[in-house]
Amino acid sequence: MREVALGIDLGGTKTLVGVANEPSLSAPTALSFEASYQTLIELCREALAGRTCAGIGVAIGGPIDHFHRTVSPLHQPEWRNVPLWDLLAQEFGVEPAIEVDTDAAAIAEATERSVSDLYYVTWSTGVGGGYVREGAIHRSRAEGGSTHPEFGHQIVAGGNEGTVKGCGRARCLESVMGGRAIQERYGQPAVELPDYEWSSLDQIMAVGIINVWTITGCPLFVLGGSIGIARWSSVQEEVAQLQADCSLSSAPNLEPSTYGATASFEGALRLAQANFNTPSA
Ligand SMILES: [Zn+2]
Repeated sequence: MREVALGIDLGGTKTLVGVANEPSLSAPTALSFEASYQTLIELCREALAGRTCAGIGVAIGGPIDHFHRTVSPLHQPEWRNVPLWDLLAQEFGVEPAIEVDTDAAAIAEATERSVSDLYYVTWSTGVGGGYVREGAIHRSRAEGGSTHPEFGHQIVAGGNEGTVKGCGRARCLESVMGGRAIQERYGQPAVELPDYEWSSLDQIMAVGIINVWTITGCPLFVLGGSIGIARWSSVQEEVAQLQADCSLSSAPNLEPSTYGATASFEGALRLAQANFNTPSA
């Protein structure tokens, strides 16, 4: 019987499951844990269509505890300390590779470009990032070494104080300029915001990218997410302007996401195929 690898993108609103080079399946993510998990398993069985599962890759919202092998996606309040490694291993007989969705997206974008160093930034409802460094997902060494650096929660000066305090702070990138923050402050969705409102937001994103570039030296940034892809060229101009007077370094390269809305899912497929950088538990 043919063996296939299964990719899963478990998002707060949509669950996407599929096998490489086949149409993927999707369903809304239910609020309750039982219903959403049941849907996930049903989609997996449908995608497998009776074939043997040889690998599973999962992209899911953070935080993930690689040490205790549990997931607690922030935007799925009923999913707390869920032992997803064990659940999927029992269900399908293979050890899954599970990563934060932005880390999975970073893997997909880095693999697609054949580069070993890439910083992926998503700008949509929220703001986040994932860093592939020397071919592996970069993790924080704090708190047991299992967390990933939070690009979207760096504090930025300037702009208005944010009102959406996902992490508890009012001045992080996400609380100042995430899609939800834009909706709350301007009373309209980001897509309807007039041009003149964008320059300060683009500049704050550029500051966030330059801060990370200055510290990490990562030569390539990729901007994804629905807002990020739309604002990419303007953010690139802001990055170039802000960096123009720096005599120490030039501006980092900034490219738009190749995969767009399916970047995390594409990363999950690669995790499934390669068990890319599976952390030792
Ligand atoms: Zn924050």
